[in-house]
Amino acid sequence: MVIRSKTLRLVILTSTILVTIIIAVQLFWLQKVYLYEEKQFNINVSKSIRGLYDDMELVNDVSDNTQKLIENPSPDLYLLRIDCNPNLDSLWLNLKSEFTDFDVYTDCKAAVYSTEKNAFTIQEYIDLPDSYHANSKELPVPMFKRDYSYVVLFFPHRGQYILKQMFFWIASGVVLLLVLIAFGASIFYLYRQKFLNETQKDFVNNFTHEFRTPLAVIKIAADVLEQENITDKPERLRNYAGIISDQTGHLQAQVQRLLEIAYTDRSSLPLEKEQVDANALIRQAINDLLPLAEQKQAVIRTAFEHPEAFLLADRSYLLLALINLIENAIKYSARPEILISSSETGSELCLSVKDNGIGISRAHHKKIFNRFYRVTQGELHTTKGFGLGLNFVKKVIDAHNGKIEVSSEEKKGSTFIIKIPKK
Ligand code: ADP
Repeated sequence: MVIRSKTLRLVILTSTILVTIIIAVQLFWLQKVYLYEEKQFNINVSKSIRGLYDDMELVNDVSDNTQKLIENPSPDLYLLRIDCNPNLDSLWLNLKSEFTDFDVYTDCKAAVYSTEKNAFTIQEYIDLPDSYHANSKELPVPMFKRDYSYVVLFFPHRGQYILKQMFFWIASGVVLLLVLIAFGASIFYLYRQKFLNETQKDFVNNFTHEFRTPLAVIKIAADVLEQENITDKPERLRNYAGIISDQTGHLQAQVQRLLEIAYTDRSSLPLEKEQVDANALIRQAINDLLPLAEQKQAVIRTAFEHPEAFLLADRSYLLLALINLIENAIKYSARPEILISSSETGSELCLSVKDNGIGISRAHHKKIFNRFYRVTQGELHTTKGFGLGLNFVKKVIDAHNGKIEVSSEEKKGSTFIIKIPKK
């Protein structure tokens, strides 16, 4: 059990670290690609603008470095200095063809600002194939006060356009993420399967052990009874018939246990609640366990705070739960001295079963309520069981909205405390 959960934790830790690294690398690359696409966009716009200056005589001194004529106050804005009043129709046409030549496929709002009028003389919406944005026409072009006239180019959807260029990278990132999630789910599924297989194996081992011995004894006894002269020895006959009866009883009890498994498999128990006197149930449970108690010479005492302890509960399930706890107290004690008490605290009824047995070390306190879990002990490991009793008890108490706790120390004994709401 310890190795299993350690390996599992290690695998989960390693996978988490790996996944984190992969995601971090992925994000790093996405950021790099964004920067690259952004740079590419700026270069393409600059080339288009240079083309525009070459095509049209917008400035007096054409030999001027075009870079000096361009102002870029924000990433989506370009101001192009001009020294004349250009023919607007050919300006828009040229702009559109330059953008197409240099692959700038996002919409652009363009305008011409005149210093004399201190206003935009005209605005134009240049929309290119694949770049339609319904609201772009209404967007205002930001105005800047300059002492020269200029053409302003405003790309309102620059960010979205760059992200669109990155579609392949983003899609592959998402696919990778999905693959990682599928990978994580498979590991989880595999380990769960492995865990279930192992618990199942444990169960089959216990099961075989529990049934093999009584069956072997019954077989031997039956062989003896088959001997021809057995009727001449009535004492021997009675003896062996008794053995068969005892072993059959034992097997019957085990079958009852297996039926409990069927119940513990369900997520919730179907309760039939009625007013039940817990003290009477405790007495009945002790009575049912008399043969086992006598066999182990157990001393069982009760301490009831009140003569009656009524609560709303399912009689047969609560009785089975009490039988399981008291049976464990007897089973796991060499010379059982058991104290069973009932008391009331406010709205709850508190029942406890205290023994002087082998006890349970703290590391096992939570696990003993798991299905098939059994503590492997030294000397007293001959104790038989399936590791289902406490799981069943917990299911019963949970179904009653109650709580079960254990306080126990190795070699000193255990106390199981049940708290159930009275109503
Ligand atoms: P089983 O008794 O059939 O093994 P349970 O579910 O009743 O299964 O108990 C689970 C384990 O908890 C037991 O195998 C035993 O190791 C431990 N245990 C339960 N009750 C006691 C007790 N009163 N004293 C010591 N150990 C106990």
